[in-house]
Amino acid sequence: MQTQIAETNLELIQGDITKAQVEAIVNAANSALVGGGGVDGAIRRAGGDAIEQACAEIRSSEGGCPTGKAVITPGGNLHAKYVIHTVGPVWEDGNSGEPELLASCYQESLQLAIENDIQSIAFPSISTGIFGYPTEKAAVVALTAVKELVLQSNAVPSTIQFILFDEATHTCYLDALLTVFGK
Ligand code: ADP
Repeated sequence: MQTQIAETNLELIQGDITKAQVEAIVNAANSALVGGGGVDGAIRRAGGDAIEQACAEIRSSEGGCPTGKAVITPGGNLHAKYVIHTVGPVWEDGNSGEPELLASCYQESLQLAIENDIQSIAFPSISTGIFGYPTEKAAVVALTAVKELVLQSNAVPSTIQFILFDEATHTCYLDALLTVFGK
């Protein structure tokens, strides 16, 4: 499924983000930037040592990455030249700042893409795995955050993909597209 926001193509795809043919993929990382499961484990396995080395440097210089923020590393053996690591909120009750922090993940990642002149980027569904954010809610927050940033900024990537691993998640994002864009 594809839609257009200003000059940007927004694509919702079911698949494996480690295979994405884009300049940057986004990782749902943890704040220590240490290897985890889920999409983080898959990206680190596919990207190899270069990602772990760059994360170790950021750990020692900055102590990691706070929730809602993002950092960038090389993509190592991935097709993607860069990995942008962002730390989503752990779902508590929905009233602990989760939507704002999740929106910030998408917007901070896109800001880093703009700063690094990245033209194509792929996101996974941040926080909806181990971190427990309900997917229907997260999908609306994600698409709204991306839409707002694209409409506010110049020089946003020309292609923004969401690569959703399983059919249920893909369906939630298709439904959210209707909610957020009316199509
Ligand atoms: P979080 O800790 O932020 O919840 P997870 O990695 O546990 O992150 O899950 C986030 C989403 O990433 C889930 O929908 C999960 O199914 C999905 N996922 C896992 N592996 C991949 C992959 N290789 N490509 C794309 N999405 C993936």
